[in-house]
Amino acid sequence: MKSRKITTDVLIIGGGTAGCFAGITLGSKKEINVLIVEKANIKRSGCLAAGVNAINAYITKGRVPQDYVDYCKKDADGIVREDLLLSMSERLNHVTKVMEDLGLVILKDENGDYVTRGNRNIKINGENIKPILADGPCGLQ
Ligand SMILES: Cc1cc2nc3c(=O)[nH]c(=O)nc-3n(C[C@H](O)[C@H](O)[C@H](O)COP(=O)(O)OP(=O)(O)OC[C@H]3O[C@@H](n4cnc5c(N)ncnc54)[C@H](O)[C@@H]3O)c2cc1C
Repeated sequence: MKSRKITTDVLIIGGGTAGCFAGITLGSKKEINVLIVEKANIKRSGCLAAGVNAINAYITKGRVPQDYVDYCKKDADGIVREDLLLSMSERLNHVTKVMEDLGLVILKDENGDYVTRGNRNIKINGENIKPILADGPCGLQ
C-alpha cells in the first residue's frame, strides 16, 4: 500500500453530513486548509446517502430555539448539554439557508414560506442533498 504525507490545518474524519458541513464552514475561511477523509464515495456516503425528504431540525414560524432544546432534552431523557444545544439551535435556520443557497430544493407554499411537516420539520426535495454537501465550496481533496 502506498502512503502519502499530507499537511493540513484541520483533518475531518468522515465526510458524512456533519463532516461535509464542517468542511464547508471551515473551508470558507481562506486561511484554513481543510482535509476530509472519507472511507466510502463521499457523494453517497453516510446516513444521507440516498437522500431525505425533510429537514428535521428547523425553527418553524412561532417557535424559538429553546423549543428545540426542550424537545431534544425530552427525547434524550434529559441527558443533553443544554448550552451547546441552544447554540446549535440558534444556528439551525442559518444552516438551512446555506443549504438552499448551495442548491437544495426546499418546498415553499403560495406565500413563499417553507412547507412545514410538524413543529420542527420542513419538506425538501432531498435526493441530491449528499452530492450537494460533497460538492460544497470547501476545497475537498
Ligand atoms: C434512515 C434515516 C433517515 C433519516 N431521515 C432524515 C430526514 O428525513 N431528515 C433529517 O434531517 N435527518 C434524517 N436522518 C438523520 C440524518 O441523516 C443524520 O442525523 C445525519 O446524516 C448524521 O450525520 P453524521 O455526519 O453524523 O453521520 P453520517 O452522515 O453517517 O456520516 C458519517 C461518515 O463517516 C464515514 N466514516 C465512518 N467511519 C470512517 C472511517 N473510519 N474513516 C473514514 N470515514 C469514515 C462514513 O462513511 C460516513 O460517510 C435520517 C437518518 C437515517 C438513518
